[in-house]
Amino acid sequence: MDYPGNLFVVAAPSGAGKSSLCKALLELDSRLQPSVSHTTRPPRGQEKHGREYFFVSQQEFDAMVAADAFVEWAHVHANRYGTSKKAIEDRMAMGADVILEIDFQGAIQIKNVFANAICIFILPPSWEELRSRLERRGEDSPEIIDMRMKNAQVEVAQVGKFDFVIINELFDRALFDLKAIVHSQRLKISAQRRARAETFQALNIL
Ligand code: 5GP
Repeated sequence: MDYPGNLFVVAAPSGAGKSSLCKALLELDSRLQPSVSHTTRPPRGQEKHGREYFFVSQQEFDAMVAADAFVEWAHVHANRYGTSKKAIEDRMAMGADVILEIDFQGAIQIKNVFANAICIFILPPSWEELRSRLERRGEDSPEIIDMRMKNAQVEVAQVGKFDFVIINELFDRALFDLKAIVHSQRLKISAQRRARAETFQALNIL
């Protein structure tokens, strides 16, 4: 599938800083739009249906899978999460750049559908730092932290399937790197040809 906009996919083990980096990038970059995923997990805290996620029942999720409504979906930490075709195609067809914050299994599926998608993996600087970030976050029991650390080993082993990797040691540096990836992608000839087709035509460049 080919759209005028760019599709960025960001994956990382939990605790590596993916959400904070994506949030900061979205605040700085008005050309980027987030995609809202569907999930079977219940809302947490102040989360609102349609804002953080579309919260759906197992049956609703099954019906969407059967209707082929997802570009990708995966089991993550005992729940199901999916990116609906609608969540990204409408925005991309209008030329917007879309950013997906999803797990590594979804990122790999996206690459199979959108060959032009830019897949970015965020790594922690060390296992010790990842564990201490999960502990400092104070959201999970020690057992869950152990499970996240075990999952993280499986996730980072997939880094070779991604286009870019950012090591999130210092937040500002990692954000700078993320902005640089987005900016350089927009300047690629293939992206410029899609986004600025009329300029290329006016200049008689095939
Ligand atoms: P949380 O429940 O903490 O919001 O998200 C748990 C994990 O699911 C995170 O790694 C998040 O990026 C991932 N995730 C969120 N939405 C999607 C999605 O649409 N597809 C996939 N494959 N993973 C998702």
